[in-house]
Amino acid sequence: MTAPALSGPDSRQQLDMDRIRAFVDTELVPRADEFDQTEAIPEWFLQACTDYGMWGAVRSGRMVEFGILHEEIGRGCSSLRSLLTVHSMALHAVSRWGSPELRARWLEPLTSGSALGAFCLTEQAAGSDITGIEATARPAPDGGWLLSGHKKWVTGGERADVVLVFARTERGISTFLVPTDTPGVHRTPVRGLLGTRAALTAEIRFDECRVPTEFLLGAEGMGTAIAAGVLDIGRYSVASGSVGIIQACLDASLRHASTRRQGGALLGSTS
Ligand SMILES: Cc1cc2nc3c(=O)[nH]c(=O)nc-3n(C[C@H](O)[C@H](O)[C@H](O)COP(=O)(O)OP(=O)(O)OC[C@H]3O[C@@H](n4cnc5c(N)ncnc54)[C@H](O)[C@@H]3O)c2cc1C
Repeated sequence: MTAPALSGPDSRQQLDMDRIRAFVDTELVPRADEFDQTEAIPEWFLQACTDYGMWGAVRSGRMVEFGILHEEIGRGCSSLRSLLTVHSMALHAVSRWGSPELRARWLEPLTSGSALGAFCLTEQAAGSDITGIEATARPAPDGGWLLSGHKKWVTGGERADVVLVFARTERGISTFLVPTDTPGVHRTPVRGLLGTRAALTAEIRFDECRVPTEFLLGAEGMGTAIAAGVLDIGRYSVASGSVGIIQACLDASLRHASTRRQGGALLGSTS
């Protein structure tokens, strides 16, 4: 029996993997090259993905299913898989460490995919060494935080509605969820990448962005632990997507070997 399709934000339902495989074969694979050439996944396509329950999959806790989802999407298009990776990382953080107010505002839209998330750790000088980051957040005189810094290589950063940002505060590294329509958020698309060219990658500058108190995740100074937890999800997702890439390479090789004739025989023939 086929599991019901997960549509919308009910993360308890199982993904309909047969339906997702068919989506990859008929909708994603035929367009992946165009996405790569044009360096973008169009908005209508991202919206179409919401119908498959993929954006909220990380909340189910079914990690084998989550891995297979990323393998399947990775088989079709690494850019879409990358968007799914960073979105899942942001959603996992909100779900696990978000305050009640933060969860009430962002959990449902991120689970359904009506809002997309991204992950902002890397900086020019520090790379991804969290102990070296220079972004800062300080308490605003009238409440909340004022966040400033410059993040590089933000996958999905051009499109994201919210970004998970790591910044230095008085008690160490802290984590904030920042809506990208916050005044002081400046995004610059990164073009001309060698791979995952359609992943809407951006640099983001934060210029004295005012972040509400309840948009701090966990407690002040918990950023390193949160980054480690979130990166676990990211690494698993990237690794699963990479299995999908290899599967696609193998499929293409077998197709070629079973149709290409040289010296009177198919390349794939054993004689
Ligand atoms: C396409 C793309 C998308 C990305 N998306 C995101 C994103 O969404 N969010 C985000 O925050 N970042 C993102 N990144 C950044 C990425 O995750 C890496 O953190 C970043 O590229 C590494 O920084 P760097 O190039 O300065 O390398 P460096 O930090 O200088 O490292 C260079 C090399 O040295 C190795 N190295 C570093 N330190 C040590 C050590 N102590 N011992 C041994 N070896 C070491 C590293 O493994 C690496 O191979 C992205 C990068 C790319 C290219």
